[in-house]
Amino acid sequence: MSNTGSKNSGAGKSKGRFQNLPNPDIKKPSRKTYVSFVMRMMKYSREIVDIPEGHIIPQDKAANDVKSRLEDGADFITWLGQASFLIRMNGRTFLTDPYLSSHASPSRIAGPKRFVEPGLRIEDLPKIDYLVLSHNHYDHLDSRTLKKLAGKTEMMAIVPLGLGRYMEKRGFHHVQEMDWWDSLQAGDVTLRALPSQHWSKRTLFDRNKSLWASFAFEGKNNKVFFTGDTGYGPLFKDIGEDFGPFDYTLVGIGAYEPREIMKAHHTNPEEAVQIGLDVKSRILVGMHWGTVRLTDEPLFEPPGRFLQAAKNAGYDAENTWVMSIGESRSL
Ligand code: ZN
Ligand code: ZN
Repeated sequence: MSNTGSKNSGAGKSKGRFQNLPNPDIKKPSRKTYVSFVMRMMKYSREIVDIPEGHIIPQDKAANDVKSRLEDGADFITWLGQASFLIRMNGRTFLTDPYLSSHASPSRIAGPKRFVEPGLRIEDLPKIDYLVLSHNHYDHLDSRTLKKLAGKTEMMAIVPLGLGRYMEKRGFHHVQEMDWWDSLQAGDVTLRALPSQHWSKRTLFDRNKSLWASFAFEGKNNKVFFTGDTGYGPLFKDIGEDFGPFDYTLVGIGAYEPREIMKAHHTNPEEAVQIGLDVKSRILVGMHWGTVRLTDEPLFEPPGRFLQAAKNAGYDAENTWVMSIGESRSL
């Protein structure tokens, strides 16, 4: 494991815990709001979810499409659900935040359970060159997926500061920790870790002890911005100024209610579109919805609001992507 370090050392740290960039719009939720939210989440575990037609495509079909696209050689992305994508650029395959197992929690008995299959079975994933993790929450860093992932001794695992040792312990031989503003060369793709507005936690005692990040993928033909999990903040205008414009922005459009709690950490569809405008993105791709219930909003509300907000902001329908789980599209 090595750490490139950063002169800017963008991620502020206090008493051993990472901090977000300043955002005057964020207020602390009341205890009452928080307790009632937790009570509702417990009830959701019994809900039966109706999956709309076309929300997920058959896994065999998805796997065949990925295979033929890899042979074809051109850049593409495949949505696997939540924030997990295959991103193929300049002959390299990146896998973001692979959550492909049943639960987004430490236990398979309790905790949020996915209500749709992943876009690809773990064993059908192609050879991965770079695993890119945005942070350590269970719907992004899924140890059950990592356990079954092939090629851990060959691929490079790229993680925010503080997650390197975790990955090494799980059998990854090439681990690169990144601070905000750090970059590395992945073949012809420049990969840049950038800020997001979020938090981290996997156990009772590790809150904000590892960093969270967004990532820019700058290839020869395409520039892709992957927000990871994030709330809306002034940082995106700065990213747009310094690193935009982008061709594609993969941005979270789900897990936003109740706002009093979620605004700090997850964008709603309207804020997601604002990020697209801020980073000067030509095409917006909605993610982090339709996979697992983490919050209050109706599960299939995000795409309609996202399409409308994008239209209001001047995006053509063809430049606002609501993908099916398992679907691949050319970049
Ligand atoms: Zn998260
Ligand atoms: Zn998440």
